[in-house]
Amino acid sequence: MVEKTRFLKHYFGHDAFRNGQEPLIDAIMAGRDALGVMPTGAGKSVCYQLPAVMLPGTTLVVSPLISLMKDQVAALSAMGIPAACINSMLTSEEYIEVLRQAGHGAYKILYVAPERLTTAGFLRLCQSLSIPLVAVDEAHCVSQWGQDFRPSYLDIAGFIEGLPQRPVVGAFTATATDAVKSDIVKLLALRDPFCVTTGFDRPNLYFDVKTPRDKFGWVLDYVRRHGDQAGIVYCATRKAVDQTCQKLVQHGITATRYHAGLPDDERRRNQEDFVYDRRRVMVATNAFGMGIDKSNISFVLHYNMPKNIESYYQEAGRAGRDGSAAQCVLLFSAGDVQTAKYLINASSENEALSEAKRQEVRRQDMERLRQMTDYCKTSGCYRHFLLRYFGERSPERCGSCGNCTAKTQQTDITVQAQKILSGVARVERRFPSGLGTTLVVRMLHGSREQRVQQLRLDGLSTYGIMRDTDRMKIREYIDVLVEQGYLTQTTGSFPVLQTTGRAWEVLRGQTRVTYARREEQAEPTPRRKAAERRAVAPEDSLFEALRRLRAELAKAESVPAYVVFSNATLADMAVKRPADMVDFLDVSGVGEYKAARYGRAFLKAIQNWESNNLSRGDD
Ligand code: ADP
Ligand code: ZN
Repeated sequence: MVEKTRFLKHYFGHDAFRNGQEPLIDAIMAGRDALGVMPTGAGKSVCYQLPAVMLPGTTLVVSPLISLMKDQVAALSAMGIPAACINSMLTSEEYIEVLRQAGHGAYKILYVAPERLTTAGFLRLCQSLSIPLVAVDEAHCVSQWGQDFRPSYLDIAGFIEGLPQRPVVGAFTATATDAVKSDIVKLLALRDPFCVTTGFDRPNLYFDVKTPRDKFGWVLDYVRRHGDQAGIVYCATRKAVDQTCQKLVQHGITATRYHAGLPDDERRRNQEDFVYDRRRVMVATNAFGMGIDKSNISFVLHYNMPKNIESYYQEAGRAGRDGSAAQCVLLFSAGDVQTAKYLINASSENEALSEAKRQEVRRQDMERLRQMTDYCKTSGCYRHFLLRYFGERSPERCGSCGNCTAKTQQTDITVQAQKILSGVARVERRFPSGLGTTLVVRMLHGSREQRVQQLRLDGLSTYGIMRDTDRMKIREYIDVLVEQGYLTQTTGSFPVLQTTGRAWEVLRGQTRVTYARREEQAEPTPRRKAAERRAVAPEDSLFEALRRLRAELAKAESVPAYVVFSNATLADMAVKRPADMVDFLDVSGVGEYKAARYGRAFLKAIQNWESNNLSRGDD
């Protein structure tokens, strides 16, 4: 076996490299700088941790995720790789001790917060240390184009310059835009870097959008139906976080919360409760996530629509990092668009930008919001939509997202379309600059609202022509007409509806309008069936037993459960049911060190389970 593959199995327990890992590792081992762009959960850490193990000396990993370092160090130690971290959370005694040990070359990997690079004690250490590799994690933080710009990242290049010998530099990020990539190369002063950008698809994630009338009821039901799983519920505002969390707790769910308005210590405590599986559901604003590495998150629900697809994909992508199946469901309502617009306007107000620049930023934000809204309304494949947004080719239908798996019914809405189109045409004649969807819907529905009367929309012959149709339905039909090109919706702060040339084909009765209406299932029945099946499948009750053992071990060692083994590893173990140490090492995610440390306990649990469950010889 090739050396590096042996190391991959020995330390990390993986049998093969994932897409992109091997070429990056080869480049680094050959002494070349490298830039790896891979989505969250793709396995970037191995790309620098494996070289760190193979190279002589101590590898430095620069990371902004201070709260995560402790767990990363614990995870490395559990694999038999000596590691430590240096950040503001250490006491001065701890700091001195780490520096002392590091000075003796005790660590293969040293995590360091960017702010610490320029401190005297650390600089002194680095003058004497042999540093073959500096890995920069979350490298997009160096770019002002990214959402997470960290000024201290700009010091990294100078720090490397000042080292007695220039190490290989590896940069890693999940942000793929060209502006950010070229910023990383320039600002980290990478030399002729070997670049790998892997696909953004996350095959184990299931995407869906729902429009329930009662969002909270839907979330509660979902969380109950996934009673053994951990997940995040993202809300747009702090108030919504507080309310949703409180209500979940009142209904007996072990939920906790996170947003920027909470005191530091409560935030830290709540985050730990979630990461250590003491609380199952995290209700949070988008402030939560950057600093967490919890690989067993099985669902990410969005209570509100985020403001753009980048944010959505990043947040949703926190599910299923260990590769096991996970769900990302966005709950959409028309009000979300208003909230998002409000947030965009509020955030571009207090910036120190010129008015022209501010308008440009706002225009871009509005355009990105429009695409996010299109995602929520599409009847096409969600995965295809997302990947196309990130500039990636993919099949038109993935066959496994909410829209691809939904039952649909071809529905003829020609009559409704004619009513709507003639309504919009009449509005256009009266108001050549057009009116927004809300007013058009009110006019068609025959609303007595003041604004309708002010504009004398009640005088139009199409006023109230759809009195018997639900307003939500009218909106849905309008979306279909926009999607099929009979209407257009202008962009900007006040989008208006306009007819297109094709509208006349429908009005003259030359074309019929049909669309594939998705049948709403109050309950995702197929999945529920799967859950019931799961309850009786033997490997699942074994999985539960293994999970309990993992929880005990994690608790005894005060580490998060995933540091012991990931869900994916437990699932593989439940299927393979190893009988001895050799078989145990065959389980995906089991390396030598962890086998020695935990092997006996797990083998015993499997044996116990077998003697209790397979006594009738029905193996
Ligand atoms: P990223 O930093 O890119 O978000 P991580 O490095 O945290 O991703 O890895 C995500 C998960 O993938 C981890 O649970 C890790 O154990 C697993 N993983 C990484 N490389 C492999 C591999 N070659 N085979 C199987 N699992 C892997
Ligand atoms: Zn699909």
